[in-house]
Amino acid sequence: MDPNNDHDKFYHPYQPYDIQLDLMKCIYNTLQFNNNNNSTDNKKICILESPTGTGKTLSLICSTVTWLRDNKQHLLSASLQSNEIDTDSDSDSESDEPDWVKESFQNDSLNDKIDQFVAFESHLNKNINNINSLLPQTNLKKKLKSSRIDIEIEDSEFIPTPYNDTTQQQQDNKTILANQVKSLLNKIDTSHNNNNNNNNQLHNPVKIYFASRTHSQLNQFANQLSLPNFPSSFKQLQTERIKFLPLASKKQLCINPDVNKWNSLEAINDACYELRHQKGGCPFYKVDRDTSPFTDEVFQSIHDIEDLYTIGEKHKMCPYYASRDALPGVEVITLPYQYLLSETTRKAMKLDLKNNIVVIDEAHNLIDTINNIHSSIISLNDLKVCQLGLQNYLTKFKLKLNPGNRVNLLKLLKLLSILIDFITKNFTKPGIPINNINDIFKDNNADTLNVFNLIKYINVSKVAYKIDTYIKSLTNNDDDNNNDNNITKKPTLFKIVSFLTSLTNPSKEGQFFFDVGPSIKYMLLEPSKLFEPIINDAKCVILAGGTMEPMDEFNDVLFPQLKRNQIVQYSCNHIIPDDNLKTFIVNEPGLEFTFANRNNLSLINDTLFQFYMNLCDNVPRKGGIVGFFPSYQFLGNVINNWKRNGLFNKINNKRSLFYESKNGKDPLNEYAEIINDPSNEKGAILFAVVGGRLSEGINFQDNLCRAIVMTGLPYPNLLSGELQIKKRHLEMKVEMSNKTKPDDQKQDAKIVVKNFLDNLCMKAVNQSVGRSIRHINDYSVIILFDSRYDRDNIKNKLSHWVKNRIQPQRSTTPLMVSTKLFFKGKNTGH
Ligand code: SF4
Repeated sequence: MDPNNDHDKFYHPYQPYDIQLDLMKCIYNTLQFNNNNNSTDNKKICILESPTGTGKTLSLICSTVTWLRDNKQHLLSASLQSNEIDTDSDSDSESDEPDWVKESFQNDSLNDKIDQFVAFESHLNKNINNINSLLPQTNLKKKLKSSRIDIEIEDSEFIPTPYNDTTQQQQDNKTILANQVKSLLNKIDTSHNNNNNNNNQLHNPVKIYFASRTHSQLNQFANQLSLPNFPSSFKQLQTERIKFLPLASKKQLCINPDVNKWNSLEAINDACYELRHQKGGCPFYKVDRDTSPFTDEVFQSIHDIEDLYTIGEKHKMCPYYASRDALPGVEVITLPYQYLLSETTRKAMKLDLKNNIVVIDEAHNLIDTINNIHSSIISLNDLKVCQLGLQNYLTKFKLKLNPGNRVNLLKLLKLLSILIDFITKNFTKPGIPINNINDIFKDNNADTLNVFNLIKYINVSKVAYKIDTYIKSLTNNDDDNNNDNNITKKPTLFKIVSFLTSLTNPSKEGQFFFDVGPSIKYMLLEPSKLFEPIINDAKCVILAGGTMEPMDEFNDVLFPQLKRNQIVQYSCNHIIPDDNLKTFIVNEPGLEFTFANRNNLSLINDTLFQFYMNLCDNVPRKGGIVGFFPSYQFLGNVINNWKRNGLFNKINNKRSLFYESKNGKDPLNEYAEIINDPSNEKGAILFAVVGGRLSEGINFQDNLCRAIVMTGLPYPNLLSGELQIKKRHLEMKVEMSNKTKPDDQKQDAKIVVKNFLDNLCMKAVNQSVGRSIRHINDYSVIILFDSRYDRDNIKNKLSHWVKNRIQPQRSTTPLMVSTKLFFKGKNTGH
């Protein structure tokens, strides 16, 4: 490898570290392998761990886009040669050309096609200066968002359009007709699209789909994508722009103030649907739209979601639908998890993963996310709120509703009371399965209710968002405006509809059961079935994250059908020098913070207290100490005991002690203020809870955390309904596998369940301790304060960069000596 060769560096905008180069090589080689072995039996998938601060996003971008451009160049030159040979020999077109070449190039010479690419780039060059000045700067973008809320909704807007029995029939007919028209249009679509949208001729052979969890992570990807300078795929092109499109929901992209005033995504979707199907429709949307001015502008440079909104406003064109028209010409697409992970959404959005690259970032929670997207829950409280709200709604608007709406809403009211009755009478404790869902309707005089028809009514009438917004206006409860998280709370009536849909169409991979609340939950138990089509379709799936250990969980739960040699696991070391991090495991007799030991006062008031007192003496005052605890209950117990015995004050006198509580104030700001105050000589400690507000997404960099302590092992609560059901499911799987004799099955099931719980626990530990080192110059000590961390089955599930730095000291006294020396070496003025 030549360090001065840009291609060998994957056009990384900076001088990449060795670990970044290794990671990029791993990705590039896997893509190349899959490209050469295009069979599902051999296809490899990547699981990559690259700790925060090691430039993961840039490594992903540089390796995949370099491969994309190489591949395009390779396909083109291969096709040019084959074209010349074909022309000479006049052979038929049954060549080895890839499908995209056959489809895109069959009627034109390839040189003509290259001319089109060149012409398209020069077309994009025009007016480029006019555009960027129109786009809002970051601060303005935020204001722009907030100006889109809090517009008053008139009473008349809560009333659905008249509904009657024929409305459904008309709707069905419309759907049939629409499908027929669609299929006819598809046949003549090539010429139609070519007239309207120049870029659609320029299909890209392979696209990269990059999915992440939050809006800010997707915008961060867009920012980083503009940093590298990739060469063009063809020598005839001086520069070739990356055709990038960030996909987003109507909540982020709707530019119609009459629609985007509704405050949930579900409401905006329904209001948009209703408006588009009314006479006059939405002024920003036309079926035979020519969206090329929008697409041209989007492709001129790298734009984020807020830019798309502005470009749509400028052209008076709905950015949500115009984005969909831009898809054929796109090379790189960012999208929220839901768009990628739900087959229904993929189909609705026309996202074709076939032969494309799928990168899933922040994938440590992928299994939970797939389960959540395909699960539904209703609580007794939701049902009661909805029942009361619907009663009020009917009282207020009854005379304005036509009979079709009135009758169906009364049926909905009846269904709500049946569900309320069922939960009230049958809930005993969380985790009890409901094996026959028809029991809900038994003995309830429910024969006049047809749940299918009721769901159809709600879907067709689009009444849910009106009632839901009305109910919300009564309670003044606006909790849906979480702009940084793609997974927002569903409005109550939509939750009920989604539950009813699971009820009428349960998958055999799921289970209904009673959960806390009380509530009824439908939970997906086999996410692999829903992930399999993604693996089968995509050229390559890459799962990436800062903390991906224990990686075996992905193999077992998400792709059990793959052979071991099809899974490329790669765990980066950290970019920090070796001596910037020390990991200690304290393994002393009796040091086990188990559930049984939760009230062991000697452990809490002597061992734990004394440990923190010593640590305060050995970590520099300027450096914060962050202590993680397995649960709010555990931490509350420690704090209460220490307060009762005056121990809290003793520690608090040494360092200001802040702690997280379930419903209390967030202590982070006050803690950070003390740490960042140069005149403060006392320093501070912050106690937080694994899985709590401070364990994910918060950077404890530099002095905010010089020592991180994990007290106990954060095993999930086995008594929770979800875990009971999952445990039972795993046990049944072992039984049904028939691999062992019945006597051994119990033992095998125990091992499987134990491994499952260990994985959950260690995933949470890795997430929490990963908060402490955030960049190359950062340094810290990690202390795992429980003897069980020394067991191989636990230790081996730690992130590699943490495990590789485990120190030989196993007891508190030598640990403290070593810690003191560690910080002396860092010259912190301690
Ligand atoms: S078509 Fe677009 S702009 Fe119009 S209401 Fe729907 S999302 Fe909003």
